[in-house]
Amino acid sequence: MKWILVNIIFVSLVGFSQKPVTIVIDPGHGGNDPGHLSHDGKHLQEKDINLKIAKKLGYYLEHNIQNVKVIYTRTKDVYPSLDRRVEIANQKGVDLFLSIHCNGSPTKATRGTETHIFDRSSKESLKWAKIIEKEFKTRAGRHSRGIKTNKDRGHSLQLLKYTRMTSVLIECGFLTNPTEAIYLNSSRGQDLIASAIFRSTRTYLQKKYPKINFIPSKSNPPKPMNEEQPVANSNGKYKVQICSSARNYEPNGDKFSHLKFKVHKVEVSGSVKYKYYLGPFSNKSEAEEARQNAAKGGYKDAFLVKM
Ligand SMILES: [Zn+2]
Repeated sequence: MKWILVNIIFVSLVGFSQKPVTIVIDPGHGGNDPGHLSHDGKHLQEKDINLKIAKKLGYYLEHNIQNVKVIYTRTKDVYPSLDRRVEIANQKGVDLFLSIHCNGSPTKATRGTETHIFDRSSKESLKWAKIIEKEFKTRAGRHSRGIKTNKDRGHSLQLLKYTRMTSVLIECGFLTNPTEAIYLNSSRGQDLIASAIFRSTRTYLQKKYPKINFIPSKSNPPKPMNEEQPVANSNGKYKVQICSSARNYEPNGDKFSHLKFKVHKVEVSGSVKYKYYLGPFSNKSEAEEARQNAAKGGYKDAFLVKM
């Protein structure tokens, strides 16, 4: 009798609850609509950054968890109308909608992330948005400006008003703030944003659909998206960031004593508090050697930074 019961539960969990969750990712703007422009004309326009973050996010979702299907409103530099984006979101079977943008302000000092929802009565959208902003703040070390609704904005956003499913619009940072502009333009910054959105979406999905297995099988381990860092073809000095932490370690202490190169510490704002570097190095190959040494010493995510 017990076995029959176990089998019934097993079949109902595995057999009937594994319809994939479908997420529409909308990279804001595109084509003739650039969105916010680079503040100094040297960087990418908003439309291009939105697309890069969107693709990284889609990659993380599809490669790191099971039972998720991703649909993009655009994968190239084209402009689907807002009506068309809403139509893609409202097609049958779509569970979540997420639009990616970067912000702008007449005040250069304005910085930080925002997650927009239609209003606070959209309970599921609110839950998802809360997790996203929390993740930006606590894990990605970003300044969070919080959740914004149509009341905060003074107007409603067409995408959030007419999409019929759980939906959020994320402003990843301000292109008009010089520091955030550099971060948003860097492959590393885009990776950190995409992985923060990925992790928060995974957390939201696991809570919302407890019967669906989002854990990847052992034969399909999580893969990072490998893209060359933006330092590839430049001259000048480099350093290697080996880790960041809220904890204050002694650069000459035990934690780093096994590394071949000298460590220095930089205090930063936000929840991360400290970043730990090797270098500076006068050329890229020296920095790369240090990075490899750090990777062997347990700092697998160490990366080069151009100074
Ligand atoms: Zn935008």
